[in-house]
Amino acid sequence: MEKIRKIIHVDMDAFFASVEQRENPEFIGKPLIVGGNRDRGVVAAASYEARKFGIFSAMPVKIAKEKCSDLIIVPPNFDLYKSVSEQIRNIFLEFTDLVEPLSLDEAYLDVTVNKKHFKYATQIAKEIKKLIKAETNLTASAGVSFNKFLAKTASDINKPDGMFVITPEMAEQFIEKLLVSKFFGVGNVTAQKMQQLGIKNGKDLKTKELGFLVKNFGKNGQYFYNIARANDNRKVEPNKTRKSLGVERTFEKDITNYSEILTQINLLSSVLHKRIIKNGYFGKTLTLKIKFSDFTQLSKSKTISENIDNKILIQSIAVKLLDLVNLESKRIRLLGITVSNSNSKPSLQLLLNF
Ligand SMILES: [Mg+2]
Repeated sequence: MEKIRKIIHVDMDAFFASVEQRENPEFIGKPLIVGGNRDRGVVAAASYEARKFGIFSAMPVKIAKEKCSDLIIVPPNFDLYKSVSEQIRNIFLEFTDLVEPLSLDEAYLDVTVNKKHFKYATQIAKEIKKLIKAETNLTASAGVSFNKFLAKTASDINKPDGMFVITPEMAEQFIEKLLVSKFFGVGNVTAQKMQQLGIKNGKDLKTKELGFLVKNFGKNGQYFYNIARANDNRKVEPNKTRKSLGVERTFEKDITNYSEILTQINLLSSVLHKRIIKNGYFGKTLTLKIKFSDFTQLSKSKTISENIDNKILIQSIAVKLLDLVNLESKRIRLLGITVSNSNSKPSLQLLLNF
């Protein structure tokens, strides 16, 4: 039998916003967002005080301002966030080399074998939280479990400054009760679709057959089938350097109408932009992928001289690429947008163009 793994997911609390509050003590306890000051900017991070006003990341700054008149708006300082992220990573590396960052503010750690010979993963998680607080004056939340999916889900449960453990004994019951909207990998659109199919929680999900899930959710169907059974064999991969960052969507019904395609490109652009900001990943090439109802697929790319760092830019390039494709009498099954070709340093332009 394979040895049970011990996985910790560490997630910094309101990371960019908390760093800004730390740097500017006069902002502590106040509603603050990191984001562009221009009307078309979006919220990259919101402090917990701002969240009380119903302000969340990816919301247009304009709307955030309407929700809270005293809102403090700070332009992003990615160099600073990256250096703090590096500091936190070095703390992780004291315990294990199996550290896989998901973005600047979260990572998976495999501590099955750990350098400090702790017996329990919960001890390690506590120790890491303590060290992060001591060295950076920031708080983190930790999820501890035996696979990535459960560890990631667990870190969200007692946020901020929280910790939650899901043992193998608890897993089945825990998943059964969990609302699908809380599952990692289930976004708003998928959650709504599941709702329509009568899937509200893990228990409902488990009753669905693999074929049904694949038919309705494409390649994610298999993942959903597995996680409903607490199966997630993905390893923590320490040397994953990101070559690209993309989003894609398989449609419930094939789409044909041009305006509908534009709507979907608009939605995908928003999601991709949000991911770009969260990951601090900036590239110069955008690729549009289209899969048709007959499962043929094609992709078109464009490279520009500056980093693709705002939603309007993503959207306009994607539409230009779309216009290169002959869509006549074609039915689209899937659309995807990916950014790649990163020089890994965010441009100064970002601060202005955000
Ligand atoms: Mg976070």
